[in-house]
Amino acid sequence: MTKKTEILLIYTGGTIGMVKDYKSNALKTFNFNHLYKNIPELKQLDCTIETVSFDEPIDSSNMNVKYWIDILEIIEKYYNLKDGFVVLTGSDTMAYTSSAISFMIENLTKPVIFTGSQLPIGDLRTDAKENLITAIQIASARKNNDEAIVTEVGLYFEYKLYRANRTTKINAEQFEAFTSANYPAIAESGVHLKFNTSFLLKSDINKKTLFRKKLNENIVILKLFPSITKQVVQGILEIPNLKGVILETYGSGNAPTEEWFIRLLQEAIHKKIYIVDVTQCVGGSVILGQYETSLQLQKIGLINGKNITTESAIAKMMYLLGENIDKTDFKKHFESPLRGEMN
Ligand code: ASP
Repeated sequence: MTKKTEILLIYTGGTIGMVKDYKSNALKTFNFNHLYKNIPELKQLDCTIETVSFDEPIDSSNMNVKYWIDILEIIEKYYNLKDGFVVLTGSDTMAYTSSAISFMIENLTKPVIFTGSQLPIGDLRTDAKENLITAIQIASARKNNDEAIVTEVGLYFEYKLYRANRTTKINAEQFEAFTSANYPAIAESGVHLKFNTSFLLKSDINKKTLFRKKLNENIVILKLFPSITKQVVQGILEIPNLKGVILETYGSGNAPTEEWFIRLLQEAIHKKIYIVDVTQCVGGSVILGQYETSLQLQKIGLINGKNITTESAIAKMMYLLGENIDKTDFKKHFESPLRGEMN
């Protein structure tokens, strides 16, 4: 008889486990037992589930690097004991958190599936049950030879499993809250749970899995808009101890060609601040040099973010800065896919 797969369910908070405070009418976090009690169906799944909960579950708006390390350390502690991991967080910052975890684990060989919900688990019309049950099924799915089907960090929401570091939250009220505009769903749940195997990341079980915890938070997102002033750009680039900038540009990576703008970026680069060009568009890629308005950016040495999401760029920047690599390697690493986050 084959052994049942063993899943670790990590609860950090989010709507999925929230209850209504009838005094204020606002949703607030609640403890995990509440969630478990509301899904007795979990017992019917063909796997064993152990749960670990944050002592004080959080709304994901309060997510930060310290909590990312907490999640990582739980996974690390149980890594050799469990076959798969399901992480419950609020959806608001799930794309950031799951992207970060994808960079923080090198040579992942087991599924780590993030999910949550738009309505609390106790709500009659909740989306939590389907999301949670299917996420667990995905984390325990095996090939004929008993190897895990998914060996990457995924995000499951409303019938679709995406590569986590490709996702963006695009809707605050529809159940279909996430999109992955530049990479197809890696699994879809209908009558059957269908894995798009050719799109899954391959893992190498002979390589050691490494858990990286040194993230550098001294970074900023600078989003361009028509008429952005010199004062604003200068103020941002002169933030003390700033190490990295995610520059959200227009279209395929375009920005104003005004002399002051290019000069400020160039001065920042000379001060060893890394600047990555990512597009404000949900889909598509930065193509430096395609227009005159990105040629200068290319010449002064901006890093090409290609089709990475802003969420993933934030995580990758914090991760690579933490690794303390030299300038040429930094650009080379940022412009290459490390966890399938760009192509
Ligand atoms: N505000 C909630 C959170 O992100 C929303 C959700 O769970 O979907 O924690």
